[in-house]
Amino acid sequence: MTLLDALRSAVGDAHVLTDADLRASYETDWTGRFSGTALAVVRPASTAEVAAVVRACAAAGQALVVQGGNTGLVGGSVPAGGEVVLSLTRLTSLGAVDVPAAQVTVDAGATLASVQEHARAAGLDFGVDLAARESATVGGLTATNAGGIRVLRYGSMRAQVMGAEAVLADGSVVSRLGGLAKDNTGYDLVSLLCGSEGTLGVITRLRLRLVPRLRSRAVALLALPDTAAAVQILPELRERLPDLSAAELFLAPGLALVRSYAGLPAPFPVAHPAYLVLECAGRADPTDALVEAVAEVDGLLDATVATDAAGQRALWAYREQHTEAISAAGVPVKLDVSVPVGRLPELVERLPAVIEDACAGARPVLFGHVNEGNLHVNVLDAGERAEDVSDAVLRLVADLGGSISSEHGVGRAKVPWLGLSRSGNEIAAMRAIKTALDPAGLLNPGVLLP
Ligand SMILES: Cc1cc2nc3c(=O)[nH]c(=O)nc-3n(C[C@H](O)[C@H](O)[C@H](O)COP(=O)(O)OP(=O)(O)OC[C@H]3O[C@@H](n4cnc5c(N)ncnc54)[C@H](O)[C@@H]3O)c2cc1C
Repeated sequence: MTLLDALRSAVGDAHVLTDADLRASYETDWTGRFSGTALAVVRPASTAEVAAVVRACAAAGQALVVQGGNTGLVGGSVPAGGEVVLSLTRLTSLGAVDVPAAQVTVDAGATLASVQEHARAAGLDFGVDLAARESATVGGLTATNAGGIRVLRYGSMRAQVMGAEAVLADGSVVSRLGGLAKDNTGYDLVSLLCGSEGTLGVITRLRLRLVPRLRSRAVALLALPDTAAAVQILPELRERLPDLSAAELFLAPGLALVRSYAGLPAPFPVAHPAYLVLECAGRADPTDALVEAVAEVDGLLDATVATDAAGQRALWAYREQHTEAISAAGVPVKLDVSVPVGRLPELVERLPAVIEDACAGARPVLFGHVNEGNLHVNVLDAGERAEDVSDAVLRLVADLGGSISSEHGVGRAKVPWLGLSRSGNEIAAMRAIKTALDPAGLLNPGVLLP
């Protein structure tokens, strides 16, 4: 039997896509920067089918690329050339919400939005949220240890994952879905899968922690003189607002781009250098507390608070439309970095000159999650100098004591710079883990490790 025959017998003829037109959307990433030809796209519908596909590939020495919603931003979900793309998007079932435990078991290919909706229908909610919610899968979120806009309150994806089931590179299945809050029985394989970017196993199911559903929300948009002001006022806002769930930064050039892309009105009568979106969510209406805190914070240039859902969506749109507006303007150099929060203003201040030095005329668009010192550095018009821009930005970040990947992962995009954030001994330890679990290097070759 050929490999393709084995794959067809594992998942059915209709779910092995070899036709170029059918493969195309699986072969290019969301940014348009990374693409490659797949031998085939295989779409299993259960853990058993995933295991059969992985076993068939292992027997043939065939490399695989694992793919969820293909919204990743570092090129880790698409083939470099010749791999089988293993798409998880048919694994979508959602188990009954376990209300006493505030947990749910779901398939890895379920979208973030579907899990959020499912949790809300049971009076609970899911702690991670981000703009790609309609397509990003919980398997992909776990594999990248995604962050998003509520890390300030609930932590990253790793903090939501209570258990996982995964198919390892030899086709064997490991399953820890019991959801025990306390379980110290050796190495934490579930946690190891968080942030493993498809290099250690194919996640097929997840046991997820749920959080209380907080129906009352208030959103504010603050105008500020600079990033330093945002960093300076945040501790006071955190102190005064126990219901604070998000604090998102963007700057004047990003706002201008978003407004022209989405046709949005100006939020204030005049433009300002920096903006901070704040969201509070609670059981009781947090509006008064937010209005009061904003009124008493020093150094604001302007502010507006939205209490109804439409107004809140309108304020969030200025921040959430950044990624799409940037992609509509060109194929950007996309870097996602973090520095100690106190050094965020210095990073924002030094970046334009560093980028200009690396590529004259390149246009930086910066925004991020201020509480975690996390800045999304997007650079348009870098053309042939993309590598130089990446190198200059990531070296500055390392000099400031930061990380070359805050929440998107390393993927293919940042492999050459892993050594700026991880020591030689750490990389050797990671490689030893990879080799132990995937000795032939069949899962996501070229992703994460040099
Ligand atoms: C508009 C927009 C906004 C975004 N905002 C944020 C944000 O705020 N914060 C943030 O962290 N990210 C953000 N992202 C990035 C992206 O949404 C996340 O990285 C998400 O976790 C990827 O999920 P996915 O299902 O699309 O995974 P994919 O893109 O398909 O894959 C991402 C990586 O995970 C691996 N993988 C996928 N599924 C599995 C699985 N089941 N088992 C093992 N490995 C797997 C892939 O091989 C790849 O390495 C954003 C993206 C977009 C387009």
